[in-house]
Amino acid sequence: MPEKSPVGFASFAIAIPLYRVFDYDLAVNAPVQAGLRYRLPFGQGSKTGILLSTQDATDISPERIKTATECLDDAPVLSEHMIALARWLAEYYLQPPGEVLFQCLPGYLRNAKRIKPTQVKYWYALPVAADLRARLRKRSPRQYELLVAIEQAPDGLNAAQLKAINAGWHSPVRALETRQAIKWGRSKPAVTSPVRQPAPVLSQEQSQVYTELNSRLGRFSVHLLDGVTGSGKTEVYFRLIQNQLEQQRQVIYLVPEIGLTTQLIERVKQRFGEQFVSSHSGLTDWQRFQAWDRFRRGEANIMLGTRSCLFSQCDRLGLIVIDEEHDSSYRQEDGIRYHARDVAIKRAQMLDIPIVLGSATPSLESLNNCQREHYYLYRLLHRPTAYAPPRLRLIDTRQVKLVSGCSPVVLERIGRHLSQGGQVLVYLNRRGYAPVVMCHECGWQANCRQCDSRLTLHQSVSQMLCHHCGYAQGLPAVCPECGQGDIKHYGIGTEQLEQGLKQRFSQFPVIRIDRDSVTSRDEFAQRIGKLQKGEPCLLIGTQMIAKGHDYPGITLSVILDADQALFSASYRASERLVQTAFQVGGRSGRGDREGEALIQTRFPEHPLMQALVNSHYRDIADSILQERKMLGFPPYSRVVIFRADALSLDQAMARLEQIGQYLQASVQKRGVKCIGPIPALMTRRIGRYRAQLCLMSNNIQQLRGVLREAMPAIKKIPSTHSVKWVIDVDAFDL
Ligand code: ADP
Ligand code: ZN
Ligand code: ZN
Repeated sequence: MPEKSPVGFASFAIAIPLYRVFDYDLAVNAPVQAGLRYRLPFGQGSKTGILLSTQDATDISPERIKTATECLDDAPVLSEHMIALARWLAEYYLQPPGEVLFQCLPGYLRNAKRIKPTQVKYWYALPVAADLRARLRKRSPRQYELLVAIEQAPDGLNAAQLKAINAGWHSPVRALETRQAIKWGRSKPAVTSPVRQPAPVLSQEQSQVYTELNSRLGRFSVHLLDGVTGSGKTEVYFRLIQNQLEQQRQVIYLVPEIGLTTQLIERVKQRFGEQFVSSHSGLTDWQRFQAWDRFRRGEANIMLGTRSCLFSQCDRLGLIVIDEEHDSSYRQEDGIRYHARDVAIKRAQMLDIPIVLGSATPSLESLNNCQREHYYLYRLLHRPTAYAPPRLRLIDTRQVKLVSGCSPVVLERIGRHLSQGGQVLVYLNRRGYAPVVMCHECGWQANCRQCDSRLTLHQSVSQMLCHHCGYAQGLPAVCPECGQGDIKHYGIGTEQLEQGLKQRFSQFPVIRIDRDSVTSRDEFAQRIGKLQKGEPCLLIGTQMIAKGHDYPGITLSVILDADQALFSASYRASERLVQTAFQVGGRSGRGDREGEALIQTRFPEHPLMQALVNSHYRDIADSILQERKMLGFPPYSRVVIFRADALSLDQAMARLEQIGQYLQASVQKRGVKCIGPIPALMTRRIGRYRAQLCLMSNNIQQLRGVLREAMPAIKKIPSTHSVKWVIDVDAFDL
């Protein structure tokens, strides 16, 4: 039996979906520092835990408490700041704290793997304030001597070299570390490496925005850069980043889906060389860990990546940049539910550093925050290149026969642009060959067995697939219902579009990009890279091609089918449609030829369609905001949704009824709206039935009050395989 530890007990975070932390007795000599990982005895086996805090007492009885003996780390893997941020996230989004803390670690460290030292340690100098320097010189000559020696070594000094200067180097070096005068890394630290590609001279507009924005940096502040597509926002971020690097600061640079913005990685590499690391789903766990570790050690100064890179740690963070801040991929919808933009803003606030959000189509939330003067707003209205973003033009498809989903006008324009040497982008957000398979005779439809959804015909694999659960079924020869009718397909997906356009424009390459045709980041890079050559070609695809890229050869953008968004049940549909239209349209005309943008519709008189062609994004956004205000929807109210899914709808509804009962008293007292429980829009998904209960209020204090009062009881309701429930704070959609 280990002896009773002098430090008492410790609380650990363990990655299981329970709203609690776990107390352990600490073995004698067990290191105690928040952020260390331990392998802990748990049930019959073991689990990895992250030490959070120590305390003298625990309410676990002495016979039942287990002892933590096996520490996995030499130094904490989570900083105190990161633990505080994770705890805030868990608290605000009402997510299980253990799962949240593990989410902040790179995948490689989530199990019991130890960090293997691969290279020799080097100590190198950080910027030292003048008064600290003076104090060291006067009072701590040993520290001062070592500091100066380290400062003078461009590659830092290793243990042997330090020992040569002072045999008793250990304790002064440690003292310098705590004073943050020096730091160690495992390889040569990145000093400002030579700039490879010179920055372009900023346009007057860019330079004005940069100067104004940069002058306000320093303390916590949120800045929204609202610049039309191709206006050179990236160039402004680069300047801000450069400026941070010159001050020895580090930067986190978030982008929606890095797999898709290979072009950006290349641009950053060209500009900043070795100082940057990137992390995204195309890398292995080990590669992502290495990027995380290099950034943490200060060996790289820029972390470029997707949502989860928000949790990268470092000592000298000076700025966070979030590009395409409106993008819904910043919202994590499974596992831990959070919005990376909002958590990033909290992080900036906790560190008292600035954060810059940018977009050509800013989210309504952010525009609202500018109106309320919570954020600074900057605008770039022009492109530094030859032509302004094209105006969208409606193509009325009511009276015409579509060929492969395209109207005659669209086909004519595509042909014209190609023959004049332009590249053409055709956006269709529906993969597969055809979205509907039906019996001509009796009206039978091919539906998924596990979901309330239709099966999509994929001709290349001769199957009908469910896009929600992956269920696959062969195409029946005759109708399974009436046994005689012909099976027909309706509608058009990217596969059919590709076929049609290939036939029609056979002398030009057709590049299709969607989740079926492109399965890896490299493949994506390779395909889209073909545009780089600038030769005329057709690029067709889903939302994967709608954003982030900058190919000056594209002169025509076409949106084939936007009509479904006009009648969607989602209150966000119009916002999304407008953003997509401007983003897709904005891919064209970035080079030295004027761009054109077309949008096909059967509802050209619809007010939203009219707005798309007659107004700027900002004006449309303002009117949608007005509408939301009238209806009391976000951002004018806050929404919390309890979601349940179960093997039957009754069970899911019953669970939410139970949760509703706990909420009832508070909801009434505080005037918070409570809607439901009701079955979810798509009730059955992957064989489970789903329902939801929604809380909504324009008063965040009252809403938080309800949660504060009711959650202690609700948190005790188990979430099991037969009936699962989760909370979705600031839910994206109702
Ligand atoms: P955004 O991020 O706003 O879409 P980018 O930064 O990608 O815009 O810029 C669009 C294009 O304009 C890029 O090819 C970029 O190299 C070019 N560009 C940006 N700023 C300048 C400038 N000041 N002078 C010349 N070209 C520029
Ligand atoms: Zn039939
Ligand atoms: Zn399905």
